Amino acid sequence: MNNVTVIGAGTMGNGIAHVFAMKGYKVNLVDISETALEKAIATITKNLDRMIAKERISEADKADTLANISTNSDLPSGVSKADLVVEAATENIDLKLKIFQQIDEHAPASAILATNTSSISITKIAAVTKRPNQVIGMHFMNPVPVMKLVEVIRGYATTNEVTDTIMEMSKKLGKIPVEVNDYPGFVANRILMPMINEAIYTLHEGVAGVEGIDTVMKLGMAHPMGPLQLADFIGLDVVLAICKVLYDGFGNPKYAPCPLLVNMVTAGKLGRKSGEGFYTYTHGTKDWIVADNFK
Ligand code: NAD
Repeated sequence: MNNVTVIGAGTMGNGIAHVFAMKGYKVNLVDISETALEKAIATITKNLDRMIAKERISEADKADTLANISTNSDLPSGVSKADLVVEAATENIDLKLKIFQQIDEHAPASAILATNTSSISITKIAAVTKRPNQVIGMHFMNPVPVMKLVEVIRGYATTNEVTDTIMEMSKKLGKIPVEVNDYPGFVANRILMPMINEAIYTLHEGVAGVEGIDTVMKLGMAHPMGPLQLADFIGLDVVLAICKVLYDGFGNPKYAPCPLLVNMVTAGKLGRKSGEGFYTYTHGTKDWIVADNFK
């Protein structure tokens, strides 16, 4: 297993390419957007420079890592020599099903097909391919070069052999993999999203304000970031989408997204990426203050 194709060069895709290339894998990074590919290489270069500044790698390591990455805007040729494909394109079910049909058609029959999806059923993705036993979830955390966890998700048909290969490979990347089964939200988001949603309900019902809720969880539970701030960082649209996956998947009202979250997403308040969520963010700085709506 030496050739890895990463589909999608956004936030996660560039990080995934970075960690594989640093461990000597030949990485082909594929995106429909040339701009995204250029941005990804710039981000990887910047992150490698940061590692040099911290004396964690040498200039030679940086050069080797970058030499291991090639880019491609054409998916069929991008996957044609892959031993492993890791899909990290936009979180949209129709898009992912289309991409997996394409990958299945053009990747070698022996290739393992992994997805970095946060919430879409691995079994559903696997079902559109002719090799559902070779499809698996490889859920990296953001930022990928820093975060140790990889949630390895077995679809209904994933074999032990494929699971073992991906568990071993994750360890070779210096990560700590945890094997889980394919149910809505897997483990990470099944536990995280209800906590964030409950924090939003707590705000909505006036139990405490934004800073109060985040301070309780930071100081009381030793969380590095409060749940409302974390929601802003993840993106409120993403939080809402994952809550809906849990709600639909389990049919249990306890997962119903808070109406305040729905309203904020409808109003375009998506958190950090839109400049405002529970906090407002001044572009170009790391400063944030509680948004006017919650003062
Ligand atoms: P992103 O929007 O930053 O990047 C997605 C990239 O996919 C874009 O560059 C886009 O051009 C590309 N793309 C879209 N359609 C494509 C196609 N047909 N072929 C090739 N590339 C295509 O998204 P992201 O935050 O990196 O998320 C990617 C995946 O990782 C999603 O499934 C998401 O749920 C998952 N994920 C995200 C995070 C996170 O914190 N952002 C964490 C864990 C998992």
